[in-house]
Amino acid sequence: MRIITDERCIGYSHPGHPERPERIISTRERLRGQTEVPITWSKPGPCDEAAILRAHSPELLARLAVPEDFDADTPFFPDIAAYARASIGAALEALKTAVAGETAFSLMRPPGHHATRNRAMGFCYLNNVAIAALEALSNGKKRVAVFDFDVHHGNGTEAILLNKPGAAFFSVHQFPCYPGTGSRNVGANCFNYPVLPQTTRAEYRLVLASALEHLRGFKAELVAVSAGFDGYAHDPLAQGSLEREDFYWLGQSIRNPGVPSLSLLAGGYSPDLPDLVLAYLRGLDGK
Ligand SMILES: [Zn+2]
Repeated sequence: MRIITDERCIGYSHPGHPERPERIISTRERLRGQTEVPITWSKPGPCDEAAILRAHSPELLARLAVPEDFDADTPFFPDIAAYARASIGAALEALKTAVAGETAFSLMRPPGHHATRNRAMGFCYLNNVAIAALEALSNGKKRVAVFDFDVHHGNGTEAILLNKPGAAFFSVHQFPCYPGTGSRNVGANCFNYPVLPQTTRAEYRLVLASALEHLRGFKAELVAVSAGFDGYAHDPLAQGSLEREDFYWLGQSIRNPGVPSLSLLAGGYSPDLPDLVLAYLRGLDGK
């Protein structure tokens, strides 16, 4: 198991914002203090312009340098473009690791799955998971799936991958909820599995299992995961019902078909995030 992280992802913060550096700091400490999952630590790789421009407009890149907030949830920070690029560099390093046969998890921020081609939103500036999926396709993979179990719909990933040959997007998320999309399937390749707020844990698991079954039918050569831990029963930002064991089960389920995978941290705002990530990694690692 390779974890990709570095100090750049804790270099910016906004008072009171739930997407904060402590998410990473506490998770890193938890992972360093355990021996169940053997971990190799790596730094993000380079992030070239061409990879970003497959997913985003030059206008969005220019906008990231303008010192004005993007929306109420998504503040401007000096050098936010550099932080977002580091997160993409980690996603691309995770991709390289997965292609080489080792499971990878990117423990970075900012997250990416709400960023659309032209817009930063929902704590996201550039869409790391979509960029990694498009990079894999441009490097010769024929079938790449994105699985998004963050409690919020990955609207940006969907918009970027919509009808892209070789790509498929599978998302399980609360609906109604932010960002208000994801109530139905879109185009030929985007499959949405909405769950109502306060859906029981058993029902939530069944929906996740259906989405994973559907994903297996796609026969991907590679699976990129938006690993969001905010469907947790005690997460402050949504009304999910998942417990720690469910994240273990998700890791196991993603490991089991034997398809190479990379996972990128998305949401997860409860103080239990480190335990949830460790449970997921144990599942992914087959422990
Ligand atoms: Zn989320």
